Amino acid sequence: MDEVQRQEMEAKGLQVIVMLIPVRCFTCGTPLADKWEKFKKRVEAGEDPGKVLDELGVKRYCCRRMLLSHVDIIYEVIPYTRPV
Ligand SMILES: [Zn+2]
Repeated sequence: MDEVQRQEMEAKGLQVIVMLIPVRCFTCGTPLADKWEKFKKRVEAGEDPGKVLDELGVKRYCCRRMLLSHVDIIYEVIPYTRPV
């Protein structure tokens, strides 16, 4: 979410809740959240997700599934937020 979208939402009285990828792998505890933006950008640009993960140094399959299976659901949740 960029700053313009955030300001539009706040102007409508909606509380901005950013739903991020879990900070660490559920299984082994390796920090992964710092890799999410790089991973997302490169995959959206058309690169192969497996190769991107290799290059980011994500080797374990428990960690790879965290990034591969994550879905940003913020835009699905926004209609259900209420002004606080
Ligand atoms: Zn892991």
